[in-house]
Amino acid sequence: MHSVEEALEAILASARLTPSEVLPLDRCAGRVPAERRVRAAVDVPPFANSAMDGFALRAVDTPGSLRLVGEVAAGSVSAVELGPGAAVRIMTGAPLPTGADAVAPLEVVTENEGSVSVPQVRAGAHVRGAGEDTRAGDEVELPAAPLSPASIAVLASLGVGEVVVRRRPRVAILSTGDELRGPGEALGPGQIHDANSASLAAAVVDAGGTPVVLPRAGDDEDRIAALLEEACLEADLVVASGGVSVGRHDHVRSVIERLGRVDFWRIRVQPGKPLAFGRLWDRPVVGLPGNPVSALVTFELFVRPLVRAMLGLPGNGRVVLRAVADARIAKDRERRAYLRVTLRRQGEGYAAAPAGGQGSAQLRPLAAANGLLIVPEGAEAAEPGVSYDALLTGEL
Ligand code: AMP
Ligand code: MG
Repeated sequence: MHSVEEALEAILASARLTPSEVLPLDRCAGRVPAERRVRAAVDVPPFANSAMDGFALRAVDTPGSLRLVGEVAAGSVSAVELGPGAAVRIMTGAPLPTGADAVAPLEVVTENEGSVSVPQVRAGAHVRGAGEDTRAGDEVELPAAPLSPASIAVLASLGVGEVVVRRRPRVAILSTGDELRGPGEALGPGQIHDANSASLAAAVVDAGGTPVVLPRAGDDEDRIAALLEEACLEADLVVASGGVSVGRHDHVRSVIERLGRVDFWRIRVQPGKPLAFGRLWDRPVVGLPGNPVSALVTFELFVRPLVRAMLGLPGNGRVVLRAVADARIAKDRERRAYLRVTLRRQGEGYAAAPAGGQGSAQLRPLAAANGLLIVPEGAEAAEPGVSYDALLTGEL
């Protein structure tokens, strides 16, 4: 049985970057740039301009009374060449007239008929110099993260209208089980609603991928085989749920083994021990446990980092906090547990309260949780008053 680290290492080793695609900048929110270094073609700002509404002047002429010789607004250029004792009315963002080296904001100036009386102003005051943010020729390095609104503003200011980004990894999702019906369908005897198709699709979007949800399969080897092969045609990564354990009707693992190969199929993790990982036609395939809590938690631990690696992003993109457990939460001694908790600020640090029952089919505590408390192998429980690492999966 693999440890969490061993399993994650083997899974990440299968990651291949998705190809790149070119998108207009206004469609790049949240997308990952394929090339993080951008060479600036222009100065930003392109010219020296006023940071305030006020009067452009020569600092050496202050304090004093200055003749008003013109006006310049953002988007136009003043024809005036500023000589001694003169000032030009200027708006925020307007280019500084030639000869001027400072701006006195409206607030400090007294206006008279045709002149302004100005206090002492130092050279460069309220002037944004050309290239102050970025110089033409500079290499601008974007963070190793999906493009934020601020990074998009940087690219826009550089005049970049199109960005080469990683294509979102296409992740096929296949729920298996004879008992499953769609969430909108009525249930017959012994049937339950399929939670995993929709929940895993949402988790794929959250990780930065595009879900390709396949039709549900019953516990039928041939049908599962046909759908997994179809999945490989459409997707970069295949995620199945259910049918990976040791039941008589668990076929997913044996089908992956028959069509491709299974690298391992058990991890010392709670929830989610039965997790199969292998390859099918060169694609990574993950068989998640069917229990919906186990499916989502193991997706978080193993599939989310894989989707990110395919985008060139490091880690799982989550914050890890140190949190003190409020209460005892029992676990399996042999496995590392990821307990569903609500994390909150407490004093200088954080505290964790159980979000509800920890059964692997208890979905509401998972939905109520904003974190997973990580309790190591060897411990029988999270103990009250003891600190543990916690993955922040939601909002604080
Ligand atoms: P399995 O991994 O197929 O042995 O399934 C384990 C448990 O999870 C069983 O109780 C299944 O009914 C349940 N289960 C499997 N797949 C789903 C699903 N897509 N949605 C909800 N429950 C499921
Ligand atoms: Mg099943």
